Amino acid sequence: MKRKKAAASGIVDAPLDTKSQEKARLDRIPSLAPARLQTYDASADNVGRFIRLLGERINRHLAVSMTACVHCGMCAESCHYFLARPDDPTMTPVYKADQIRRIFKKHLDWTGRVIPWWVHAGSPGNDEDLNRLKNIVFGACSACRRCTLNCPMGVDTALLVRFARGLLTELGIVPEGVFNVSRDQWETGNQMAVTEEDFLETIQWMKDEVRSELADPLVDIPVDRPDCDLLYTINPREVKFDPRSIANAAKVFHAAGESWTLPRWGWDQTNFGLFSGDDKLGAYVARNVYEAADRLRAGRIVISECGHGYRSTRWEGYNWAGYEQKLPTESVVVTLKRYLQEGRITVDPRRNPDPVTFHDSCNIARSGDLVEEPRWVLRQVVRDFREMHPNRRENFCCTGGGGLLSMAEYRPLRLEVAKIKAGQLKATGAKLVCTMCHNCIDGLTDVIKHYSLDMKVVQVLDLVSQALVIPG
Ligand code: SF4
Ligand code: SF4
Repeated sequence: MKRKKAAASGIVDAPLDTKSQEKARLDRIPSLAPARLQTYDASADNVGRFIRLLGERINRHLAVSMTACVHCGMCAESCHYFLARPDDPTMTPVYKADQIRRIFKKHLDWTGRVIPWWVHAGSPGNDEDLNRLKNIVFGACSACRRCTLNCPMGVDTALLVRFARGLLTELGIVPEGVFNVSRDQWETGNQMAVTEEDFLETIQWMKDEVRSELADPLVDIPVDRPDCDLLYTINPREVKFDPRSIANAAKVFHAAGESWTLPRWGWDQTNFGLFSGDDKLGAYVARNVYEAADRLRAGRIVISECGHGYRSTRWEGYNWAGYEQKLPTESVVVTLKRYLQEGRITVDPRRNPDPVTFHDSCNIARSGDLVEEPRWVLRQVVRDFREMHPNRRENFCCTGGGGLLSMAEYRPLRLEVAKIKAGQLKATGAKLVCTMCHNCIDGLTDVIKHYSLDMKVVQVLDLVSQALVIPG
């Protein structure tokens, strides 16, 4: 009955795993450490555990966002879900946040005791209600924080969404994709389960490629070299699907005369803990990177082009891991800007003649405060740079944020609301959309394909590498 109601309200309706699906899932995970990643237990008192966890984990920051909303509705126009479905109130940020807020009001806030009808206080009745909450916080929000930026009361809806995701993750009530990727990151240290053998083989392959391209046998892609100025950390997608981006980085570092290395362990700067709300996973992955830098006595940590990896490694990870930040931690785009400013590399923008626009990744611009650096670099390396509108901190999500690319069950809704992004891209008239995020590459590629746009997605490093002038 409740499920029907949820579907009618427009919120996607992915079901809880059936017993056989759950068993199949567990059979594929022989070495899962249960203390690390919880699986769904239909016989447990999940509602009770959810409410207990809510009380244990609430903090002042969350409580402000739980209580400060005045239901003015101003955030609605910020959300690409609502803009794409303006007749559906369940797509507004305030509706989504209220599904968490009402439980807080019922169990932890005085208003829920005194005037429950006024503040719509309520409690989940059973696992189906928790599942419905799962479909809202995982399936109908990309945690882009555009609504956060536009709330006059400072309510951080995406923070509440991540909080609820974390509580549901503790109960194993998560989309299968989120569960699988989290498990891979726990067990292999990287979210795509790349083995050390594959990692080293890919590095060797790219090293051979760059050596042959530059006709220079001295080009190197060092692994685990101690005492370098720069520790380079990457996204597993680069090893698995886009190794050319590692080669491009090697080419530019070589041209700049950089002393650099990749670590053999701790090279994955992405962090599914940010998406699943699991701070323990967040701490584990971030710590791997920081410890690699300590072990190799690196001078700084550089993060390849990845939005959530940048936010996790540069900002959130130090808090999750309780790790004292000893080293500068920066995006590779900041490194590229420094090379250009210091004259360490020379570029020729004529090598990138096509019109290029820039997509600000939510986790880099809105949540990472890195806005002007990529633009500055792009203006040096392309001939025709044009802004998309809105841009910078007001940009719209690529639609694949918040881990949504791993959740196949929510794909139809994701692509439906992507019409906002598609319109934004099309209006630029650009042939290339540049983004400094591997997640956004896949999100934007889906949008471009679905809406038949005449565009390709590239990264800043691709364009810098293409424009690079190597003497001789
Ligand atoms: S979250 Fe902020 S903008 Fe949205 S309804 Fe509440 S107070 Fe208004
Ligand atoms: S975080 Fe983004 S997707 Fe989620 S409700 Fe706010 S604007 Fe919408």
